[in-house]
Amino acid sequence: MPTPPLMPVYPRCDVRPVRGEGCYLIGERGERYLDFASGIAVNILGHGHPTLVKAIQDQAATLMHVSHLYGSPQGEALAARLVDTTFADTVFFTNSGAEAVECAIKTVRRYHYAGGEPGRHKIISFSNAFHGRTLGTISATNQPKMRDGFEPLLPGFTVLPFNDLAAAEAAVDDFTAGFLVEPIQGEGGVMPATLDFLRGLRRICDDKGLLLILDEVQCGFARSGTFFAHDQYGITPDVMAVAKGIGGGFPLGACLATEEAAKGLVFGTHGSTYGGNPLAMAAGTAIMDVVANDAFLENVRTMGNRLRSGLEQMIPNHDHLFESVRGVGLMLGLKLKTDPRAFVAHLRDRHGLLTVSAGDNVVRILPPLIIDESHIAECIDKLSSAARDYQIPQAA
Ligand SMILES: *Cc1c(COP(=O)(O)O)cnc(C)c1O
Repeated sequence: MPTPPLMPVYPRCDVRPVRGEGCYLIGERGERYLDFASGIAVNILGHGHPTLVKAIQDQAATLMHVSHLYGSPQGEALAARLVDTTFADTVFFTNSGAEAVECAIKTVRRYHYAGGEPGRHKIISFSNAFHGRTLGTISATNQPKMRDGFEPLLPGFTVLPFNDLAAAEAAVDDFTAGFLVEPIQGEGGVMPATLDFLRGLRRICDDKGLLLILDEVQCGFARSGTFFAHDQYGITPDVMAVAKGIGGGFPLGACLATEEAAKGLVFGTHGSTYGGNPLAMAAGTAIMDVVANDAFLENVRTMGNRLRSGLEQMIPNHDHLFESVRGVGLMLGLKLKTDPRAFVAHLRDRHGLLTVSAGDNVVRILPPLIIDESHIAECIDKLSSAARDYQIPQAA
């Protein structure tokens, strides 16, 4: 094949999906894949869900885009739904996760500026975090593959060890604005924050007048079995970035905040041409209609527990390869005793199962949130067969 005219920042892959049906993707040659990657935690209703498809079709035919020069009944309605369901008082809509995190960073800096402490600009973030690919969000990670060659990055970030509360407490000084943290790290390897860590960051913020930003771009929107992952920690943030699942495949993100935290983002200080346009709002509203209720969340927890115990039961039969399972709800990580990338490719190419590799030798298992028992059985079956016929590559 000739080299395609796309910047080669992604690996080339022989799985080339052309259609989706529920929890399956269909490739160019008609072959089927069980999609337990969900576009990296995006397609929470799987592919072609009738509620989402109809909402987008109807809205596309009615009104797709207008500028923020005019009022937005669609944006007001979806923001009201989000505010009613969460800690937040106010919402800014974006097109992606990185933009939602950028908005959160700007919100926190402006908060201290508006409060008369413009020197408080420094954000503390954590090792192996992933917050996006803009210059601002790569400044908040310590991962060399994302940072190298892009310097100078944005000043005002300190990256500390994840789940080390003492280090976080010790690093706070007169320039600290707040913390930025994923309650469950995704790219870092499906690594939940400990209860003490997240609650401790909340306490430090309360004691010292700092703001807590949660990045729930990957773990939020029902993925963890509660609407947001922080619901399981008994704390709320001041500012939160969401995206991925919120649009179910339509590009949408949001920055949610308390009224107090957002006090600096006044008229003219921030904006986005597309963010929150009527088409995106229709997608977000359809997703809310389906997922923001107890029955849906309960089912995510039930399926998450079944999938998890299926994985746990399978591990002893293949303990040359599998080490352990971690994660919450339908955000699960299968830790291998070897680099996961070749095994993820083997699952994909030989067994028709799509998963995602992550840090710390983890295979991420991120199915659509609408799976049933049959999909779980199929996944376990494919993982077991794949473990049987997989040759662990010998290090050169
Ligand atoms: C994917 C992700 C982002 C970035 O989202 P984009 O839509 O790719 O910009 C930010 N934070 C977390 C935790 C993510 O998983």
